[in-house]
Amino acid sequence: MLKVLVANRGEIAIRVMKTLRKMGIRTVAVYSEADEHAKHVRYADEAVCIGPAPSIESYLNQNKILEVAKKYNVDGIHPGYGFLSENAEFARKLKANGIKLIGPSPESMEIMGSKLGAKDAVKKFNIPMVPGTDTPIDDFDEAINIAQTIGFPVLIKASAGGGGKGMRIVQNKEEMAEQIQLAMNEAKAAFGDSSVFIEKYISSPKHIEVQIMADQHGNTLYLNERECSIQRRHQKVVEEAPSPAISPALRKEMGEAAVNVARSCNYEGAGTVEFLLDENKKFYFLEMNTRLQVEHPVTECITGLDLVELQVRVARGEKLPLVQEDVKLIGHSIELRLYAEDPEDNFMPSINVLKKYKLPEGEGIRVDNGIDEGMMVPIYYDPMLAKLIVHAPTRSAAIQKMKEAIQQFEIEGIANTLNFGAYVMNHPGFISGNFDTHFVQKYWNKEEIAKTFSESSMVAAMVSKYLLYSSKEHLTIPRG
Ligand code: ADP
Ligand code: ADP
Ligand code: MG
Repeated sequence: MLKVLVANRGEIAIRVMKTLRKMGIRTVAVYSEADEHAKHVRYADEAVCIGPAPSIESYLNQNKILEVAKKYNVDGIHPGYGFLSENAEFARKLKANGIKLIGPSPESMEIMGSKLGAKDAVKKFNIPMVPGTDTPIDDFDEAINIAQTIGFPVLIKASAGGGGKGMRIVQNKEEMAEQIQLAMNEAKAAFGDSSVFIEKYISSPKHIEVQIMADQHGNTLYLNERECSIQRRHQKVVEEAPSPAISPALRKEMGEAAVNVARSCNYEGAGTVEFLLDENKKFYFLEMNTRLQVEHPVTECITGLDLVELQVRVARGEKLPLVQEDVKLIGHSIELRLYAEDPEDNFMPSINVLKKYKLPEGEGIRVDNGIDEGMMVPIYYDPMLAKLIVHAPTRSAAIQKMKEAIQQFEIEGIANTLNFGAYVMNHPGFISGNFDTHFVQKYWNKEEIAKTFSESSMVAAMVSKYLLYSSKEHLTIPRG
């Protein structure tokens, strides 16, 4: 592979190009009219405008991207995450045109792109699954019966869902029929597929996922787990590796289950197998994401591996350069997603000019960044600006390092998740490791913040001062 097109934008496009450059591979960036001055455009060896700002006319425009790939003679395409990264139709078009997609086959994508398809594929491997239905609901009465057998609350999920969208919690049988109908309508509108199914609603779960990597020669490795329980709108904001809740024995058990999930669809490349872990440390398969994950850097930190490099090597047909016993687990890593969102206003996207933007630096601090000071953050795309990642010998040292890095980070002009990150790092629930996916909902409100920090002197003083004097009733707490 001599030349690769990166079909993405922002931090992930740059992160991928960094490795391509390191490997001596030329890079072609694509961009929309809104991204003319974007960082990823300047970083690439060559850059091509592929259309107007809306994703559907640019970053999701399959034919245009294919046309550019052919014109610029690229050998491969790296899709990053989001956009076309899990699109089997695109994967198929590339294959037909002799361009290698750095990712799995269209068939694997298709199986895992459907949550029901995934459950069906892994059946023969005895992977523990959340109790529920394994076919799309078509008979409402039957669905109500099943929900009653499982026990309320239940979750209605879109089979084609993703990005935390397409889920509804149902508390009792009276609401069931109406909620199923609403879920089906939503699923149809958002994903073009109205199939929905039922899962037991696990009341206090941790989100634990396993990174896997597979080559074309039948070797599949698990690269340990990530804990991603700090979420808003069913989407991750803080991730860490390893999980404070996982013992070496459970790591091996979940790792081997993840490898079997990958085998069930003849997987190739980097993938993530997501599980829920309940209070009794029982795990259940949720879904598989057939791409590089947003939070892959924490895995890179603790294993010392470059996942993009492995993706490229596997795509070139090479054998994985290590075996399971070689996979290391070094220290602890935490990532904070820096979203242009206002945590004090329900994490609403905040679109504005980035007046000041200064990244933290230091040993064990990594920032995967996609923007520059002075830039306008476009409204068309995912509001993630950057990811702040730290790595230290122990979990408590990593928390400390994250606090320092947050303090050093300077952002002005746009609401963001830095203060929220500081709040998480200072929270006894997070520090203890004993938290679940309801962390944000449970603790991120004025009363809880005041209560939690009433005994810790400095923070308490500043919080109460803020709460007293803040006219906007904001939740801002001091960083660090
Ligand atoms: P991860 O599991 O890697 O944390 P997310 O679920 O946060 O990934 O999604 C990564 C990116 O992909 C985000 O930009 C998100 O908006 C987008 N995304 C994920 N799934 C879908 C989907 N089915 N449709 C549209 N966008 C999606
Ligand atoms: P997506 O494709 O949107 O990522 P997932 O199935 O991975 O959907 O679920 C996303 C999040 O939703 C999980 O991390 C978890 O917080 C919550 N969730 C999903 N299924 C359940 C369930 N059965 N019980 C409780 N929470 C769930
Ligand atoms: Mg998921």
